[in-house]
Amino acid sequence: MDAETTAEAPHLWREIGLAPLDDSAAAVFERLLAELSRHTELPCRRLPAPAGGPPLQVPGRSQVDADRLLERVESAAAATAPLVVVAGQDFGVPLFTFVFGRARLGGRAAVVSLARLRPEFYGLPEDPELLARRAAAEILHELGHVAGRAHCPNRSCLMSFASSVEAADERGLDFCADCAAALPHGLARARGPFAAAEL
Ligand SMILES: [Zn+2]
Ligand SMILES: [Zn+2]
Repeated sequence: MDAETTAEAPHLWREIGLAPLDDSAAAVFERLLAELSRHTELPCRRLPAPAGGPPLQVPGRSQVDADRLLERVESAAAATAPLVVVAGQDFGVPLFTFVFGRARLGGRAAVVSLARLRPEFYGLPEDPELLARRAAAEILHELGHVAGRAHCPNRSCLMSFASSVEAADERGLDFCADCAAALPHGLARARGPFAAAEL
C-alpha cells in the first residue's frame, strides 16, 4: 500500500498558473492568490482560462463536468508550470454527486470549484477569508495529485481524502513530512522548527 502513495522523483515546477473560469471566481481571485502564496514558495501567476466556450455540464444536472473540463485545461498546461482553473460553478462527474476538485495523478493541471467551499452553500454567513483558505487548501491538495501523490492515510495531512467541507477543514493546510518530501521543490512551504512537534 505504501508503494502506491510514494511518488517518483519530484518534478521541477517553476510556478503555478491559476485562471478563474467565471465571474464569481474572478471576483475573489486576488484574495485567493494572496492566500495561496502564503502556503507555497512557488510563484502564483494569474493566467487567462483556456478557450473553448462554456464548460460541458453533467447530463441532467446543473454542474460542470469536472473531468471534461480537466481534459481541456490539461491540454493547455505546460509541464513545468501546472495550471489550475478555479470555477464558481459546482462540479460533478457522472459517478459522484459532486467533487471539490479534480486532477490526474502525474498530470499537468487541476480544476477546483468554489461552490461547496462557500459557507453560504451550507446556509452560513459569507466569509471571504474562510473561502480563500479552503480554496488554497483544495488547490494544494489537487496539485499534490498532479505531482503524482495519491491520498495519504495521515488524517492531518493535506493529501488525506475529504468527502465533506468539515473533513477538509479538519485536515488543515499542511502536508505531512512524507508527502512534503515527495512533492516538487517549493510546492510545500518549508516548515519552521515547530515541525519537530509532530514526531
Ligand atoms: Zn484527492
Ligand atoms: Zn501525507
